[in-house]
Amino acid sequence: MSTAASSTATIRTRVAIVGAGPAGLVLSHLLADAGIESVVVDQRSRAEIESTIRAGILEQGTVDLLTAIDPNSRVHTVGDRHEGIELRFQGEGRRIDFPSLVGRSVWLYPQHEVLKDMLALRLGAGQDLRFGVTASRVEDVDGDRPRVIATDAEGAEFTVEADFVVGADGSRSVVRPAITGSSRDGYFREYPFAWFGILCEAPASAEELIYSNSDSGFALISQRSPDVQRMYFQCDPDADPNALSEAEIWETLQARVPGTTLQEGRIFQRDVLRFRSFVASSLHRGRAALVGDAAHTVPPTGAKGMNLAIADVVLLARALNALLLENDPRLIDGYAEKALQRIWKAQNFSWWMTTMLHSLPEHNEFDRRRQLGELRSVTDSEAGRTYLAEAYTGWPFD
Ligand SMILES: Cc1cc2nc3c(=O)[nH]c(=O)nc-3n(C[C@H](O)[C@H](O)[C@H](O)COP(=O)(O)OP(=O)(O)OC[C@H]3O[C@@H](n4cnc5c(N)ncnc54)[C@H](O)[C@@H]3O)c2cc1C
Repeated sequence: MSTAASSTATIRTRVAIVGAGPAGLVLSHLLADAGIESVVVDQRSRAEIESTIRAGILEQGTVDLLTAIDPNSRVHTVGDRHEGIELRFQGEGRRIDFPSLVGRSVWLYPQHEVLKDMLALRLGAGQDLRFGVTASRVEDVDGDRPRVIATDAEGAEFTVEADFVVGADGSRSVVRPAITGSSRDGYFREYPFAWFGILCEAPASAEELIYSNSDSGFALISQRSPDVQRMYFQCDPDADPNALSEAEIWETLQARVPGTTLQEGRIFQRDVLRFRSFVASSLHRGRAALVGDAAHTVPPTGAKGMNLAIADVVLLARALNALLLENDPRLIDGYAEKALQRIWKAQNFSWWMTTMLHSLPEHNEFDRRRQLGELRSVTDSEAGRTYLAEAYTGWPFD
């Protein structure tokens, strides 16, 4: 049992989880299901976690898992099942129909709604979940009792001592150095462009997502709810999100989706999202492991970030069950190798979608025409469409 911070300022638990994002919360749930107690700490408040707008597309496997966790999951009432996407190029739309190609779908259900559901579920089940707590480092991962050193909202330092520590603390992970030796040790690619993202009050401009490769650059027309829409266009990584007027934003977007008249409305959020691919050099060492963005980052084009985090967690939960309940280390020893197979497939898919759809600064007319040839190859061929559908809807969880 966890004991609240006492004069010794040490909390003891079986699994210490740093980060209450999708990875940390789903992991704590799967562990609790197996009877394994955990403590989750997050530096943000519950309100901040529940209101940060991020990913929106859930793979079939993620939805199946959320449904297994809660058969009444709001993903089926508030979320929207999408059976395809459109690739648009040279003014022509080519639909990728998921069910007919692979018998699977995706759901549009924003990440912060998943987090609201998971927080309500975990707190309702009595989970020890501490908001406003910042972990600073992890110690002794090679011993039997690794520790997370953290500071609470009042500035008091305390320790969470556990049988196992999990870094679910996002791309700036403080757990990562305890596993890889340094926060940057891994495989990295930065892209020479970013997405200018907006949220606006408007009806949907299209029923499904449109990924548009146009002569003036990439745009993505996405949806959020009947009254709120999410759209992106390719921009310079150093672009200032406040430099463009609303009229200029609409003009840029409209020019990049010829053939569709966008429904315009008040823009109430704008951000610039840089593109990076990263995989940490190790995901596991001794009594600690990384999941989700702490282990890897993908550019958002393939909608893989949150889904990949959940896939890691499914593997890690099973490995921790075997280790902590049966004293069997085989699955945890194989965790990194197994997780990396999916991670590199997702990295490849995200890189492929990104480079197929965006204009690169060094592109000349040859590159441009080759890119259009690639889009035509993929969409003309059933094999090409099937690969895209299979990867986009997500490979089944192991
Ligand atoms: C702006 C933005 C837009 C995105 N859009 C998409 C998209 O459209 N599609 C997609 O698939 N993916 C998208 N992603 C990626 C996706 O949101 C992530 O892959 C997903 O959130 C990963 O979940 P996670 O639980 O691993 O990490 P996170 O969601 O980052 O959660 C990590 C948690 O750890 C906490 N934390 C961090 N450091 C500490 C510390 N030292 N101590 C305590 N707590 C700590 C954080 O507060 C956070 O709550 C986007 C990401 C961003 C930033």
